Formats: sequence, C-alpha cells, structure tokens
Amino acid sequence: MKTIEQFNKYVMHSYGRYDLVLDNGGDVTSVDEEGKSYIDFGSGIGVNSLGYCNDEWVEAVCSQAKKLQHTSNYYYTKVQADFAKLLCETAGYTNLFFGNSGAEANECAIKIARKYSFDKYGKGRHNIITLKNSFHGRTIATLSATGQDVFHNYFFPFVEGFVNVEANSIADLHEKLDDTVCAVMFEYIQGEGGVNRLEQEFVDEIFKLCNEKDVVTIADEVQTGVGRTGKFLCGEHYGHKTDLTTLAKGLAGGIPIGACLSGEKCANVLVPGTHGSTFGGNPIACAGGLAVLNKLNTVGFLDDVSKKGEYFFEKLEAIPEVKSLSGLGLMIGIELKTKDAHDVAKKALENGLLVLTAKEKLRFLPPLTISYKEIDEGMKILTDLLK
Ligand SMILES: *Cc1c(COP(=O)(O)O)cnc(C)c1O
Repeated sequence: MKTIEQFNKYVMHSYGRYDLVLDNGGDVTSVDEEGKSYIDFGSGIGVNSLGYCNDEWVEAVCSQAKKLQHTSNYYYTKVQADFAKLLCETAGYTNLFFGNSGAEANECAIKIARKYSFDKYGKGRHNIITLKNSFHGRTIATLSATGQDVFHNYFFPFVEGFVNVEANSIADLHEKLDDTVCAVMFEYIQGEGGVNRLEQEFVDEIFKLCNEKDVVTIADEVQTGVGRTGKFLCGEHYGHKTDLTTLAKGLAGGIPIGACLSGEKCANVLVPGTHGSTFGGNPIACAGGLAVLNKLNTVGFLDDVSKKGEYFFEKLEAIPEVKSLSGLGLMIGIELKTKDAHDVAKKALENGLLVLTAKEKLRFLPPLTISYKEIDEGMKILTDLLK
C-alpha cells in the first residue's frame, strides 16, 4: 500500500477512491500492483472504449508519438484534419472544435450558443435551459449548467443564465422557454444522474419549440456518444439531430479529448480570437480517435454493441435482487431491491470485478469491444454477490 500512502500525501483528496492501484491491462481485464486481475465493466468511466491497450489503438498512438506529439494551433496537422473529417462524416455534422474534456466541450457549446444568439438578436437572450438531475462538468460554468443542487455549493458565485427544467415535463419546458432563452442543453440519457432516459415526446417537444423560436439545441453526448448506446450518437435512436453535440469520454479510447460538433446553423459562429485551447486537437489524441472511429465504422460493430447490451439486460433481468434496469446498449443502470449499490461495487472489486455506480444504482459502461465470454465471467461474479 506504499503507492496509496504516497499518492494521498501528494495528490489532493478530491475523489472518493477505492483501495486499488492499477498497473496494466489487456482487453477488458486490468491488473493491480500485486498481479490480481479485474474484469472491467466500467472502462474508466466509459473512456477505454476499445478496452485496455487494444493493438490497433496502441499502434496508432505510439507511431504518432514517435512522429509529432504536439504543435500549437497556429499551425495545421494532417492527423487533426483526418480525424475531424472522419468524425464529422460519422456523426453527420458540418465542422467541430477540439478541446480536452467533456466540460471543455460543453463550455464551447455554451459559448457558441450564446454568441449565435448575440450575433443575431443582441444582448439579453443568453439563458440556457438545462434539465434537473443533469451533469455537464466541473468547471464553474458547467457546474452552473448542471441541474443538481448538491453541486451548487462552496464556489459562489456561480455563472448566471442557466434555467432548470424538470426532465420529461413538457409543461415546465413551455413555461421556461421564453424570449430570454438562446439554447436548450440535455443528455438523451442522464448518466451521472442515474442512467435515466428522456422520453421521446419530451425530446420531440424540445426540437419543435426550439425550431419555432430559433433556439439552439445542444446534446451533451459526452457519455452516450461514440457508439455507447449501439448508435454512433444516442440522438439517432430518437430520430433527431441537435445543432450542437458534445463528445469526450470514449472518443479517443483513453487519451484526453473533447469535441463540440456543429451543424450548418452554428458552423461559422466562432471566428479567430473567440475560442481556443493550447492542447486542443492534440495529434496523439487525434490518432487515438482515428483508431476508435475506424473500429466503430467496421461493418456490424455497432449492431454488436446493441446485441451485447441486450444480452446484459437478459442476464440482469434473471437476477432476483435486481429491481429495475435502465439505459441502452452498453450504458446500463441497475436498481437493486435490498442491497446498497456502493457496497456491492466494493465487494465486486474484492471479487475481481470493477463496476460503477450512479446515484443509488449500479452502472455498467464496459468497453465496446467486450466479448460474450467476458460478459459471462463478470456476470458470474456479480450474480454470486447478489445472491
Ligand atoms: C463525464 C461527463 C461530463 C464531464 O466530462 P469531463 O471530461 O470530466 O470534463 C460532461 N457531461 C457528461 C454527460 C458526462 O458524462
């Protein structure tokens, strides 16, 4: 436990951590300092989308590191151009901005939405509707956007101009979407909020109202995007495409990245000097992202994600201790009848299985490349625990 002592001495205690020091990994298995293996149903928090150290991903990242690790955004790189093209084409968007995290991607979307409105309508139309129980990040602006009171402490004053609407309440949406609003931002499935899916009718209404009032729609797909739900974007399940979509977590397979994708409407809002990031569009991150997209774009890959999701659901439904399931594809929330999810997560770790929690639920975000054999192995550990 020397590592943990040293770590805690020098790293700020801003996280509740498990007593586990990970050292290496392969496929969906990670290995701790003592050599004990863990099946990972979390993949970080949905970040290691191709699992640990996938061969093609390692090759792409290492060869880029040997060639060019960074240049400033005063210059161009081909790898960023290639990744931007493939990402826009895959997601069906016009252009994008690269940052380094989900919060940064959302900051970019917030700035674009406000500037779009300012350019066209002038001051006063700056409010952004976000949903109760949402999660949009940890910077001051994205915390302000996050619709959960537990996050609105200590760091006063928060950023003005965020109005919360009850998720799935069309009446609340109508009441609050007035002439001061420039954007509506939402997660199709609230991840940190407990893996809660928005209802189709509510999403339809967001698009209808925003269309009528020229209000920018923003999908925070930081967790739901990049194949997580069995489509490249979760919005595809709903038959909608927002003006802006933010991506991060699994986008580069484990390297920090964030992207704000724009359709035609907002494609030219940012002009030189209005936004930037020193690290944004880093060549190594882009190389990792290309490896992820190339894998996701192989025939049948996303259908397999859906099928594996259904397989998980079937197995989970058969467990008597499971009260309800939520989510889609390989984004799964599990409500338990009598056991505490946090206790179960801790016991699972002791038994060689890593799982996440979200509010009072267990949450799975396994690597998209997980095999049925690995699902069975992990589910055996969990099933035994829940007996
Ligand atoms: C994780 C997450 C974020 C924040 O991403 P960071 O990379 O931690 O800044 C924002 N929105 C959603 C939906 C997320 O799941």
